[in-house]
Amino acid sequence: MNKFFAILGTISLSMLAAACSDTKTAKETATTETAGVETAAPANTAVAGSEKSADNASAGSATAPQVEGTKTITLSNGASVTWIQDNAGNKLNPRSLFSDASDSLYNSLNMPDGIPASVSTFLVKVDGKYILFDAGLGAFGGQLMSRLAALGVNPDSIGLIYLTHFHVDHISGLVVKNDAGNDAKAFKNAAVYAGKVEYDAWMNDIPKNDLQKNIMALYKDSLHLFAFGDTLPHGVLAMDAVGHTPGHTAFQVANLIIVGDLMHGYALQKDHPEVNSNYDMDKPKSAESRKRILQYARDNKLLMAGMHLPPPGFAE
Ligand SMILES: [Zn+2]
Repeated sequence: MNKFFAILGTISLSMLAAACSDTKTAKETATTETAGVETAAPANTAVAGSEKSADNASAGSATAPQVEGTKTITLSNGASVTWIQDNAGNKLNPRSLFSDASDSLYNSLNMPDGIPASVSTFLVKVDGKYILFDAGLGAFGGQLMSRLAALGVNPDSIGLIYLTHFHVDHISGLVVKNDAGNDAKAFKNAAVYAGKVEYDAWMNDIPKNDLQKNIMALYKDSLHLFAFGDTLPHGVLAMDAVGHTPGHTAFQVANLIIVGDLMHGYALQKDHPEVNSNYDMDKPKSAESRKRILQYARDNKLLMAGMHLPPPGFAE
């Protein structure tokens, strides 16, 4: 019996709709940014650099191939972070997701079709090691595996996975089917780090948690639980971003802060952090975390990465 598919039926349709609806075919571009100098070009077009062959997609670095739906930035400590868009096509989050916003505020955006967003994961390469932040949609339309392959990154080479929270569009990509059709680890050599508060809430208190329980059981031999304020391997700080879920976590590494699901409508919430999305489980706490972390990022001039920021997944 196929357990993973058996539990799919129990997943909230609204979560799936959030992750998968409003998709349109898009021709994306891949961009590569190094040390603050950004180049952008359609995939499969040679730019800058010394490549002579037009067939060879390159932004001037053999280690940073251009791949559709990705963008790589070098951080202040020499590490790199690659945005990997996990959803196919374009994603717009609808006005109905932001009940807190007045009509006059929403209409001032001039985005009647919805607010540009994404489902994204981020891959940090630091000290020669790969850390994946969240694993995306997996069987629900995730592009992570194909984009890792296009980037030349073997899933078995990913040593660490840090989770912002346990919603379906962030952890389903931890699972693949093996040759026998059974659930298997998508990242068999990875240690998985999750917040203890988040883990305890999903294992004990939150209903409709079959998917979460099954995935955590799959990784039980490689699961590590952290507390807010802990410094995780390779100097990554786990920060309290509670509200969206009970243990929602942001991560800071050098001048990068990965904010998880702090914002579902960046164009609206960057200037109005008091506006929640209807996915936020505790709206007052979510608004407080959003205000605090946005201010912290501005005060410290951090590059922001978010799992639902519009392409290319980063904001200054
Ligand atoms: Zn999400």
